[in-house]
Amino acid sequence: MTLPTLEDLRELGEARVLLRLDLNVPIHNGVVQDVTRVRAALPTLRWLDERVAVIAACSHLGKAKGVPDPAYSLEPVATVLEQELGRPVRFVPDCLGPERATAEPGSVLLLENLRFYPGEKANDEEFARRLAEPFSHFVNDAFGTAHRSHASVVGVAARFGTGRKAVGFLVEREVDALRRLISNPEQPFVAVVGGAKISTKTAPLEALVERVRTLLVGGGMANTMLLAQGISVGRSLVEPEMLDTCRAVLDRAAALGVDLHLPQDVVVTDDVEQPQRIEVRAVDDIPDDLMIVDLGPETRQRYADALAHAATVFWNGPMGVFEVDEFAAGTVAIARALAATDGFTVVGGGESVMAIHHAGVADQVSHVSTGGGASLQYLTAEALPAILALEE
Ligand code: ADP
Ligand code: MG
Repeated sequence: MTLPTLEDLRELGEARVLLRLDLNVPIHNGVVQDVTRVRAALPTLRWLDERVAVIAACSHLGKAKGVPDPAYSLEPVATVLEQELGRPVRFVPDCLGPERATAEPGSVLLLENLRFYPGEKANDEEFARRLAEPFSHFVNDAFGTAHRSHASVVGVAARFGTGRKAVGFLVEREVDALRRLISNPEQPFVAVVGGAKISTKTAPLEALVERVRTLLVGGGMANTMLLAQGISVGRSLVEPEMLDTCRAVLDRAAALGVDLHLPQDVVVTDDVEQPQRIEVRAVDDIPDDLMIVDLGPETRQRYADALAHAATVFWNGPMGVFEVDEFAAGTVAIARALAATDGFTVVGGGESVMAIHHAGVADQVSHVSTGGGASLQYLTAEALPAILALEE
């Protein structure tokens, strides 16, 4: 199976292209707050703009519930897109609107929020048919929704044949990077996993255990693992219903000879928002009234040492409550250690990506994945529906 890219598209001269983007940007009072995703879409947009007749960009935005909702209109994004692209962009106030068929050659359109129709999330066949109808080609450059079976990424793709559908540059780059983690990753492969809850990441964690030589665990996830080893973690965030899963992961790692590290010292506090007490404690010495909020200094050093000689690194999940300055040191230490290795390094996940920017080292990472859920699902080797729909 191969995944067609832009260069595989044929007969572009008169093409009318439906381009699925991820323009799900934060908007406040009708003003776009962060243009990162708009800028990320520009290379594919420009490449198409030089070669095709009509581009109709489309996206979802926010939590629209299958009906038009002005709070989630993409109209403010059209203005930003126009500025960033440096050419007119026409906003189409209905993603199934007639303008898609009548737009003159040389037009760039932005269609209204796909999720104003219930058929988008339901991957409804009739909605996909109507969405695809006026177009000769389809390009998907929205990696963040690649793990969802929605009409604009799955149903639509099925309606275009060879030479008429492809992934854009963003998705191509994501897939290339994540493939390097799955098929014969260069060893030693070190994974760093953390974040709030193990329950949201069980499958990717289990998949990583099978592939890595070293697993460094931090964040809330480590608390439940410590508890599974009989360590008392005070008032720390834990998920008691995940204790069996934790034991299974620990056993599997031991059976495979994976070097699984848990924190040996931690930062504990009485209150995350208004800390009165902040202390470093060994994990066998956590007071009942305090909670773990970061890696301790010895653990930071041990994890950094493990990262120093890695050939491949994947990081998902902050090592502590890094949003609070006092509890960010563990996450920042890991970010710096990861940036300093010569190996191939990938960071994925919403807060993890924020953390790597927070630490100021995002440009020293080989690949920063834009799709949190999608990248984790890719790693579990469950194929992504949107990618499968394009493969030939
Ligand atoms: P990502 O979005 O990168 O996949 P998650 O959503 O799983 O990461 O988790 C991120 C959150 O985990 C952060 O907001 C952070 O504050 C929180 N977190 C990390 N360590 C702890 C901890 N020890 N206790 C409570 N929350 C934690
Ligand atoms: Mg998150």
